Amino acid sequence: MKALTGDGPPFLSSQENAILYTDVAMNCLFCKIIEGSIPSTTVFQDELCYAFADIHPAAPVHVLVAPREHVVSLAEATEGDRPLLGHLLGVAAEIARTKELAKGYRVVVNTGPDGGQTVDHLHIHLLGGRPFSWPPG
Ligand code: AMP
Ligand code: ZN
Repeated sequence: MKALTGDGPPFLSSQENAILYTDVAMNCLFCKIIEGSIPSTTVFQDELCYAFADIHPAAPVHVLVAPREHVVSLAEATEGDRPLLGHLLGVAAEIARTKELAKGYRVVVNTGPDGGQTVDHLHIHLLGGRPFSWPPG
């Protein structure tokens, strides 16, 4: 995970890196939703993640599961983030159970421009309540 304080270009001090990443997080829509300064409809939360209703639902159930920590995308996740990634997936499955999506559902992680990612804070889409076709558009 790209930590708010962490490694970065060698020409930046660790303090400069901390400021840089704090600045990124402060301007991130999902960081603001997670901290509560932008309203959202909470579906689930714990110490690692926050799940909320998508504002433009693409299915009867459309929930976004995001880590509390600012991680740009799946492509930016590091080996150290693997437990967190597993946790996010497990939370998505648990929410699906509570929503009684017995006929199935879809989880999607849009990643980067070609992946259709529009918000640069890692999130899992949980979609359910209708059938989905394959391949995706
Ligand atoms: P993606 O395109 O995969 O990055 O997904 C971003 C998702 O965030 C889209 O499905 C949007 O509808 C959703 N979204 C954008 N703004 C908000 C918001 N303020 N509250 C809830 N969901 C949002
Ligand atoms: Zn963020």
